[in-house]
Amino acid sequence: MSMVGDRPQTARAGAPAGGWTALIDEIVDGRWSDPATGRTMTVPYDSVVIAESLAGREAELVASVDLPGRLAVVADAATYEALGRRVAEALKDRDPTVIVLDHPHADMANVAALREKLRSFNSAVAVGSGTVNDLVKYVTAEDGRRYCVFGTAASMNGYTSTTASITLDSGLKVSLPAQAPAGFFVDLGVSAAAPRRLAAAGFGDCLARSVAQVDWWLSHRLFGTTYSQSAYAIEEADERELNARAAGIGRGEVEAVGYLYRVLTLCGLGVSFTGLSNHGSMGEHQISHYIDCFAGKRHPGTLHGQQVGVASLTMARLQQRILDSETPPGVKATIVDEADMVRRMGPAIAAQCLEELRRKAFTPQSASAFNDRIAGLWPELREELRAFVIPEPEMRRMLSEAGGATTAEELGLDLAFWREAVIHSREMRNRFSMIDIAADAGWLEDFAAEER
Ligand SMILES: [Zn+2]
Repeated sequence: MSMVGDRPQTARAGAPAGGWTALIDEIVDGRWSDPATGRTMTVPYDSVVIAESLAGREAELVASVDLPGRLAVVADAATYEALGRRVAEALKDRDPTVIVLDHPHADMANVAALREKLRSFNSAVAVGSGTVNDLVKYVTAEDGRRYCVFGTAASMNGYTSTTASITLDSGLKVSLPAQAPAGFFVDLGVSAAAPRRLAAAGFGDCLARSVAQVDWWLSHRLFGTTYSQSAYAIEEADERELNARAAGIGRGEVEAVGYLYRVLTLCGLGVSFTGLSNHGSMGEHQISHYIDCFAGKRHPGTLHGQQVGVASLTMARLQQRILDSETPPGVKATIVDEADMVRRMGPAIAAQCLEELRRKAFTPQSASAFNDRIAGLWPELREELRAFVIPEPEMRRMLSEAGGATTAEELGLDLAFWREAVIHSREMRNRFSMIDIAADAGWLEDFAAEER
């Protein structure tokens, strides 16, 4: 059930025909079928509402998703000021308890603390973005309690995903099975007023689409791994609208932030279709991931999407170098330096990563088979891949206009560490990307030495 279809939509400049949740409503209601397969897609949400203002509708929205029993409203200090107080006041008939988290991180210590705080409640309303949503989502999923979220910033696409991004005690950041919120509610006015770096991060996360699609299609064509066109089909038109408004993101314009939420939401719904995050998360995400897991004290406190934006530019340059060549790329057997991985990652995480890396590592035989295969496919594959590309200068201009950092230096990252992340991020996950080609072709280190 979606609320929006039931209420009159006022036509507004800039909003898509049918309002901010056009298409999203169809998908959430189970009325959208994939043109490629004819199958109706189902996703686990009751309600997604995005509107220029939700003022006065907070209680009605929460009531619509049926949160039973004792209710907690969870926010952090900033999101409480931005929207949490208003939501809690609107819910006064339910006598909710407000829990304001003090500078929370999405890690296991914060999970344990919130688990205690939520023990006596039957359901929860999260008011916040990445961290608050991940914590509430994960803790309520442990015993199947329902929750809904009022998003306060368009900073990431995790609102509509069924997983939570949590840092384990080992320092490894992982995506853990959690649950979708029963309701996802966005007051665009509140999000447009959020600190600019938050929407810039969300924009960076969306910018990954073209480079991720290149990597995912490449992997599909060369190794027969799963690929889903529908995940792209649902967000294509909105990505164009969003990219045309990159400067509006930088200026905090409501309309631009509306399109940003649409692309983020549709990207999350795409994960529900396939059960995979590949369509928006390949080589570029691994670079960001490496930073979050191994930067330690060198971490500048930047958000996932800010890092993904810069990493997407690096990936675009790397892919361009491969795609510019009429000669097919060729690889040699993968060199796995276990001792070096242990030195950088510590023994426990290195053991996990070695397992991932070995699953895609080339032997002399598989390297030669790969070279034969890509040589046979290259003219055709090269054209297929070029169709997904947004030229790097255009990506860089948009990211900059959106207010995002475009270099590692602008992120505040140590340059040597950034280059380490570019070179070694592929060790973390068994997803084949053009970084693997560059590494096993022997030129990744030289490429990384020019990156900044
Ligand atoms: Zn992401």
